[in-house]
Amino acid sequence: MAALAKRRGCGLAFRDLGAMEYGPVQKDAYTLILEAIEAGIYKPGDRLVESELAERLGVSRTPVREALQRLETQSMLTRDGRSLIVASLDHNQLAELYVVRTELEGLAARLAARHATDEEIRVLRAMVEEDRKLRDNPLELSRANKRFHRQIHLASHNRFLVQQLDLVHRSMALMATTSLAAEGRSEVAMAEHDQIVSAIEAHDGEAAYQALKTHISRAFETRLRVDAGELRLKP
Ligand SMILES: [Zn+2]
Repeated sequence: MAALAKRRGCGLAFRDLGAMEYGPVQKDAYTLILEAIEAGIYKPGDRLVESELAERLGVSRTPVREALQRLETQSMLTRDGRSLIVASLDHNQLAELYVVRTELEGLAARLAARHATDEEIRVLRAMVEEDRKLRDNPLELSRANKRFHRQIHLASHNRFLVQQLDLVHRSMALMATTSLAAEGRSEVAMAEHDQIVSAIEAHDGEAAYQALKTHISRAFETRLRVDAGELRLKP
């Protein structure tokens, strides 16, 4: 499996997922497969084979089959003939997803400016400082970026909003690349994160909303420029 992860240019092995961030808790097949897609171990277009997954996860085929069915219902997987492959987003779906993401993330920032505790705000500030060390590592930066946005979602103290944002971020996993890998984007994105946290620190809801909206809108713009072949991705 480590070899598979390596071949796909991803430093993370499938078996590491269970222990990631949460300690050695037992996860179900659905969660493990979803995390493997989110971590880029399986990318859009990759075929998922029930027997292979069962062997890798060390579980019987029934829970794997159920997990695959569930992921297909959620449009995370799609049929290619008789095979199940990881779905990809077309141009329109991408645009639709970004419209929703921009507003929901903006709302989360607005609410975080109002409801975040001093401790939560200090965690956000520390994350911005830590990111500076990752500037030349797009994969690590992308993971840190997910944690940063998740922290803002939680700081909104609105569990319905957190749920909706989880759904949006699940679909974001269907994008094969991170816009943070685009030339010049990581430096700008870090400055944008800084502005978002400054607005939250100042408890300025409107400024936090605008800063986060601008951040997501620029990320989308970067992605479109990469897709159009106008911007290069770092190796
Ligand atoms: Zn970000």
